[in-house]
Amino acid sequence: MGNWRQKLWQERVEPRLFLLTQLRMATDALALGTAGLNLVVGALAGGFVVASSVVVGRVPAAMSAGIGSPPWRSLVTAFLVASGILFAQQILTPLSAALGQLVKHRVDGLFHDRLLEASLRSASVAPQEDEESLANLRLAAEGLEKGSRTPGDAAAGTLALVTRYSRLCAFVVIIGVAISWWAAAAIGLVTMTLRVGHRDVVRTYTRLVPVMSPLRRESDYFLGLGVGPVAAKELRVFGLTSWITERYRSSALAAIRPLWRERRRVNVTAFLWRAAFSLAVVCLVVALMLRAGATGALTLTELTIGIQATIAAVLLGEFYHEADTGTQFGLIAVRALERFRGQVADPEVPGGGGPAAEAAPSFTEIRFSNVSFSYAGSDRLVLDGLDLTLRAGECTALVGLNGSGKTTLVKLLARLYEPTKGAILIDGRDIATLPVDAWRRQVGIVFQDFIRYELSLSDNIAFGAIERRSDPGQLAEMASRAGLADIVAALPRGLDTVLSPHYDGGVELSGGQWQRLAIARALLAVDAGAQILVLDEPTAALDVRAEAAFFDEFAERTRGRTTLLISHRFSSVRHADRIVVLSGGRVIEDGTHESLLARDGRYAELYHLQASLFADSSETEVPR
Ligand code: ADP
Repeated sequence: MGNWRQKLWQERVEPRLFLLTQLRMATDALALGTAGLNLVVGALAGGFVVASSVVVGRVPAAMSAGIGSPPWRSLVTAFLVASGILFAQQILTPLSAALGQLVKHRVDGLFHDRLLEASLRSASVAPQEDEESLANLRLAAEGLEKGSRTPGDAAAGTLALVTRYSRLCAFVVIIGVAISWWAAAAIGLVTMTLRVGHRDVVRTYTRLVPVMSPLRRESDYFLGLGVGPVAAKELRVFGLTSWITERYRSSALAAIRPLWRERRRVNVTAFLWRAAFSLAVVCLVVALMLRAGATGALTLTELTIGIQATIAAVLLGEFYHEADTGTQFGLIAVRALERFRGQVADPEVPGGGGPAAEAAPSFTEIRFSNVSFSYAGSDRLVLDGLDLTLRAGECTALVGLNGSGKTTLVKLLARLYEPTKGAILIDGRDIATLPVDAWRRQVGIVFQDFIRYELSLSDNIAFGAIERRSDPGQLAEMASRAGLADIVAALPRGLDTVLSPHYDGGVELSGGQWQRLAIARALLAVDAGAQILVLDEPTAALDVRAEAAFFDEFAERTRGRTTLLISHRFSSVRHADRIVVLSGGRVIEDGTHESLLARDGRYAELYHLQASLFADSSETEVPR
């Protein structure tokens, strides 16, 4: 297929086919009913033009024959028919609008499902971190978030077009029958010329969306900073309020300028000749009608029908507020989602779909064998031929300076990414050959940037093993194992307390309490069968003293479990069975705290350095 044909197919045909299928799936009867009703509403407009013209045509005879005469009665009949049509229009038009809204909500509901499914279907998190696919996902979600210009608007707009175009058809047919088919063709052409102009303008805006979106992102960000609670403190303390206002203004203007430029260009070039052409044709047609009326070739009724239908038809050359924006912009989201789906790797990753039990053998070791990894879009090897064996039942601590690749190693273990080279083997079997979901159930992780869900305390814990959500006893047990028993007891609604001050009766936890909650979540995962517990910087929100206490307590509670403990504080992991030092994407030292100190290598150097820093600070609990 030629390039332009492919583009035409992808941009114009495919999204509309999608809409049609959505309309069928969501609203088969509703969509058909609305389309039928809209057809009737359109036809009624034509009926009113004819009926009201007949009224005008009968006035002279009725006036001269007087009240109660047969011509008078026929005038009254025509008047009643015209009024009836007008009344029906008044009733059916809002009904059609209401049904259109129903269609919009149903189609948007389906699109929401499709969006979530597409966003969550990928086994890895790479699409959420890739700028291009993320931009498509944002574009697909943007309209839904704002509730306007959505696929539902496109669907409702398409149905609204039925009203408009059936109205136009009715007027053209009326002109054809009452005046001449040449006049009908000329007026139809004028209306469609104006319509094409409006659609071109809207299409121009559509093409500008990808240009404007990144520019808008900046202004939206400044607006969010200015009105949101997150930066409220800093903006005031640093005296940034007028700076933010100015930055918002300049970035918003930068975002809107391409649109203004294009609007000037399109309006001037496209509408000047269209307006001139339309005016000339309409003047000619109306002049010919008036002449025919003057010579008696047209009756008064015919002349009135011709003029009314002509004006009404040409007015339909306008911009359709209820249809044009929706049909044009609503499809942007559809196209963006299709592009995103194309960018997301097939969820059938190697090993996917196998029986869950296959992934849960008890193991004796997990071995990173010559594992290298670099993030997409970068050549830098974050892990560079890493060899590391984690033994079952052992607590292994992974230490290294910030940026040495510790979290990356965890992400590979959780199969959020696949190694660029090498493999992770569980008793000799590559974990890439295991069903990904089942493998993940083997790993309970507390990420450094774990999520603070604005949900109940029990849900925050239950997310570690969602099937245990209805077991409050076990959730309470996990809370207490993570050191939260006192907090839960003090909360008015206990485990059911919502962890957000934005809710009635909700509370906010401290950083350290949130961290314990994340640990309770991972402990639940372990209780539900996960064989490896990973804690990535679990004590970042705690002070040194609390950290030392946490590790002592934690080492005691998880004794005998396969645990991977990550920290950049060398002092905090000395109770681990084994300490592994990561640097430059490789393991450079491996041993117990004592053996590594005795070795007097990198670990000993950094341990002493950090110890002296703490000794110099006000912290009194200095690592020994
Ligand atoms: P650590 O946990 O040891 O502090 P990380 O594994 O988080 O280190 O990061 C290792 C390196 O990989 C850092 O240089 C970081 O900038 C880079 N990095 C981490 N995440 C990403 C990502 N999603 N995309 C690109 N680079 C990343």
